[in-house]
Amino acid sequence: MSDQPNYRPETLAVRAGQQRSQFGEHAEALYLTSSFVFDSAAHAARRFSGEEEGNVYARFSNPTVTMFEQRLAALEGAEDCVATASGMAAIMATVLAHLQQGDHIVASNSLFGATINLFSQILARTGIATTFVSHTDPAAWEAAIRPETKLFFLETPSNPMTEIADIRALTAIAKARGILVAVDNCFCTPILQRPLEMGVDLVIHSATKYIDGQGRVLGGAVCGPKKLTEEVFKYLRTAGPTLSAFNAWVLLKGLETLKLRVEAQSANALRLAAWLEAHPKVARVFYPGLPSHPQHELAMRQQQSGGGIIAFEVKGGREQAWTVEDNCRLLSITANLGDTKSMITHPASTTHGRITPEARAAAGISEGLLRIAVGLEAVEDLQADLERGLALI
Ligand SMILES: *Cc1c(COP(=O)(O)O)cnc(C)c1O
Repeated sequence: MSDQPNYRPETLAVRAGQQRSQFGEHAEALYLTSSFVFDSAAHAARRFSGEEEGNVYARFSNPTVTMFEQRLAALEGAEDCVATASGMAAIMATVLAHLQQGDHIVASNSLFGATINLFSQILARTGIATTFVSHTDPAAWEAAIRPETKLFFLETPSNPMTEIADIRALTAIAKARGILVAVDNCFCTPILQRPLEMGVDLVIHSATKYIDGQGRVLGGAVCGPKKLTEEVFKYLRTAGPTLSAFNAWVLLKGLETLKLRVEAQSANALRLAAWLEAHPKVARVFYPGLPSHPQHELAMRQQQSGGGIIAFEVKGGREQAWTVEDNCRLLSITANLGDTKSMITHPASTTHGRITPEARAAAGISEGLLRIAVGLEAVEDLQADLERGLALI
């Protein structure tokens, strides 16, 4: 497909990266094999040395995984992609491939919880320090830079408050000092936001979320120019946080419907957010696609639409929020996101339950806050499901 660079995302999603075997299968094949056979001793030697391209051992090469990598790279507009076992594995691989003891990261203070723990606990122990700064204040990122700063790390919109980081502004600050910028593009996917086109160096995915989109498997990926992904590949080859062939096959088929799903989920979310905003029992809605969002204009400059995640505050506190949650029959009570089935969660007692009340307050996460990851159900049915609890508070 590299000879046809002008295909549109719809086409790339179903066609990019496919390699057919001698059997001529129409769907992408699932290669469940841990190793590969060579024609001769000399052939094995050529493959191992890298003199000849080809599969060797599934810790670092498998045709099904390669098809997934190439298809995702095409959608992100990336030269290359390295798939990993999970989103966290992708973040770990990116940092350990490019940083070493003594280096420093500047990161958003509203990252995914496990990412904050990875940086502040596990990586800190290896001598890689992180300064967490305001998600929305580029001047704070600039002020946090040290001579040893090697990486800016962010995800946007943030979870659960849907705050937007200005990708172009942060990239400009980093570029001027030779600092790498990595964006976790899990919430938007390449369908709604293409960070590489805004100057970002590496895009990271938890493919577990929208790319699978149907809540089945874990996976991750790092996309970018080959000179940067090559280092990630070397780390993966040796350290082994590899995506399984089966999961790659599920994710490859997930990419085929990514655009249809994400656009429909985002359209559903916009309708549901507008309905919530007009609801007398709702104090406030946080959704980048609504004009009431403080960064609506920035969001619309760097995203195609608002995305599938809504946060809203019911009037009252924890009791009222739990009443809404407990009266849902359709919306699943789970902290995951990106599924075709809508999900509702109370961040203050789940995903953000273990941080201090002060830190929660600073992040804007009140006791009345609920987060919905909007799926593909009829919006009217989701409204009726939420109304049951809202009517009781
Ligand atoms: C879920 C998630 C991750 C971690 O991905 P896993 O596949 O669960 O390891 C990272 N970043 C964001 C934004 C996520 O939502």
